[in-house]
Amino acid sequence: MSTKFAGVKGMNDLRSPQIEIWQRIEGIARSLFARYGYSEIRTPIVEETALFVRSVGEVTEIVGKEMYTFTDKGDRSISMRPEGTAPAARAYIEHSIANTEPLTRWFYMGPMFRYERMKTGRYRQFYQLGAEAYGALDPAQDVEVIALCDAFFKQIGVPDVVLHLNSLGDGSTRPAYLEALKQHFAPVLEVMSAEAKLAYEKNTMRLLDSKEPALQDAIASAPTILDSIDEGSKKHFDDVQRMLTKLGIPFELDRRLVRGLDYYTRTTFEFIYQPKGENALGTAGTVCGGGRYDRLVHELGGPEKPAVGFAMGLDRLVLLVEKLKPVERGGPTLFIGTFEGPERDDAIALVMRLRNEGFDVDFDPRGGNKLGKQKERASKVNAAWFAGYGGDEHKSGKLKIDNMRLPKDAPREQVEISLDGLRAWLNAASKRPS
Ligand code: AMP
Repeated sequence: MSTKFAGVKGMNDLRSPQIEIWQRIEGIARSLFARYGYSEIRTPIVEETALFVRSVGEVTEIVGKEMYTFTDKGDRSISMRPEGTAPAARAYIEHSIANTEPLTRWFYMGPMFRYERMKTGRYRQFYQLGAEAYGALDPAQDVEVIALCDAFFKQIGVPDVVLHLNSLGDGSTRPAYLEALKQHFAPVLEVMSAEAKLAYEKNTMRLLDSKEPALQDAIASAPTILDSIDEGSKKHFDDVQRMLTKLGIPFELDRRLVRGLDYYTRTTFEFIYQPKGENALGTAGTVCGGGRYDRLVHELGGPEKPAVGFAMGLDRLVLLVEKLKPVERGGPTLFIGTFEGPERDDAIALVMRLRNEGFDVDFDPRGGNKLGKQKERASKVNAAWFAGYGGDEHKSGKLKIDNMRLPKDAPREQVEISLDGLRAWLNAASKRPS
């Protein structure tokens, strides 16, 4: 008995028609990111597990519970990448990029893997589009990456994404702040889950983005890092806000926006989908998360290099674009119907030749079909025009071409074009709006 296989839970097959949205979004990303001066980096799907433990951190959900980790045949602990910042930093250090480039701006696009609980917009294999800029301490760099995100959302046609902004300071005042947070949360220690208790001990800032109902009052009244921020970071944050205002990019200050790891410094931001009406993403509304991490490169054994970056969830953006702007199905300009007989080879040869010359031309490779059936196929693939090619056409050197995109009760529109003039006609036809 044969077994019917299903894909692994939380991992999707991406196919038409959604794949056309993916391709359109990816195309926009490639040209926009290039215009902003970012070049692509492709790192392997897997890395040494220790890279993520060191960078993302042991006490995070990702490393603690969600990584796809295995031992390879050489007895190494390997993990499928759950995010793109650590692999990019590893590559930046490994290839000593800082020695030859004072400023490096990279983007990446590809699948990430996290063993998460699934729901709309949350998968176990998902896709991120991210950028990392190394070498600039100036607030202009924070603003550039934020402006890049903003421009991208506009270009792909997703409105209602709200920029949430916070600053974590440069770390110099953090010990005092963490102490204040610990004191603040101490009275609610007994109502905390084991997970929250662990965060309290090892990663106190994380409590600020906890969803535990019992902690919400304490979170609302918690001291904010903006109260104790150092002078340099305050000026940096003011500069970021001033420049964003100048660029006409609105933002909301959001003190709950923390990245609980020590090497995150200064600016942190998220873009959250917040429409007025129904939210197609439900609670998975964060479409982008990013910030400054001036200490990561050094922590991973590289030089002291400041950096800013972000990662966007492409699956969520595709869901939104699909809802807001359904793809118009394109289709071939011309569909050529064939007949059984000696001319079928000529007809097929013509299709292939036209395709190789750059025209969008299709036919039905199944053969044996009546012309009417082939016409049905042509309309199914949304062809603009249809012509049969058999003995008569071969002899006369002329095709009778029918318009396939007429309104239901419109009279038939047929043109007769010689094979010699076919290219010129196709050129014009492929530009004609349908
Ligand atoms: P993070 O690396 O967790 O900051 O995630 C950056 C962005 O990736 C999020 O804002 C989401 O849009 C997206 N993302 C994270 N995890 C998932 C997931 N499991 N499924 C789909 N998208 C995700």
